[in-house]
Amino acid sequence: MNTSDLKTYAKNTWCPGCGNFAIELAARQAFAELAEEGRLKVENLVILSGIGCHAKMSDYLRVNSFYSLHGRVVAPATGVKLANPELTVVGFAGDGDAYGEGLDHLIFAAKRNVGIAMIIHNNRVYGLTTGQFTPTSPRGFPGKSTPKGSPEDPMNPIELMLASGATFVARAFSGDLQHLKRVIRGAISHRGFSMVDVLQPCVTFLNTWEFYSKRVYDLQGEGHDAGNREEAMERAREWGYGGGAERIPIGIFYEVEKPTFEELVLRGRKPRELPMPDIGRVLNEHV
Ligand code: SF4
Repeated sequence: MNTSDLKTYAKNTWCPGCGNFAIELAARQAFAELAEEGRLKVENLVILSGIGCHAKMSDYLRVNSFYSLHGRVVAPATGVKLANPELTVVGFAGDGDAYGEGLDHLIFAAKRNVGIAMIIHNNRVYGLTTGQFTPTSPRGFPGKSTPKGSPEDPMNPIELMLASGATFVARAFSGDLQHLKRVIRGAISHRGFSMVDVLQPCVTFLNTWEFYSKRVYDLQGEGHDAGNREEAMERAREWGYGGGAERIPIGIFYEVEKPTFEELVLRGRKPRELPMPDIGRVLNEHV
């Protein structure tokens, strides 16, 4: 399979230089490689996106896709996985989507170990609505909604996901395509919930290219033990999504195998093979 087989005819409207281009290409390459290796059936792949610049992934990737609402990627992704656990389910969300409106869904998917991969386009700003601050914007960010600078410290989604019980937690940078592709491959191949926080510069409203390019380093290149949760937490705290950090770790912070939500709930049953329930009877009894 060629990566161009997975492209649609839709005209790309991202700003030239946007980090979204690398995420789309890395995902497309990861899908194509896994398909070539027989580890992924493209017809069994479902992607979901929220609302925001990132959401155009559903327009640009020629695979089964579902455009959801703002902050609501995880809920339908969980539904898809429970309806048919044989599907490979990949959610794309923005930082406002995943860490703002949809945060509770993300935390509970991590806690439950739902077998979905979440790729977060973390540009740390609401780009589509022209530059408001998000949960990961740096303190002092002078966005449209905070013209005098955001008074809040950013949240650290890596720490949060580790604390929530996620079984695969990673960070990547859209400026390192090969590394990003490897991490996305790892997230898709992981059995259980995986989250990749992708540092994605928004060249129009918060251009962080230079800041990241000077600071990122690969955890796996420095011998990080991804099986050690305490060590993962220490590495997560090396950078709190503000300024000032000397170095920013990227790569897989933590990975562990645990039973998945769908295994525990379904216990081998296949919902799509079960007879359709009589909805009329249920409504008559309860409404
Ligand atoms: Fe990318 Fe920002 Fe432009 Fe949106 S507004 S397409 S995130 S550069």
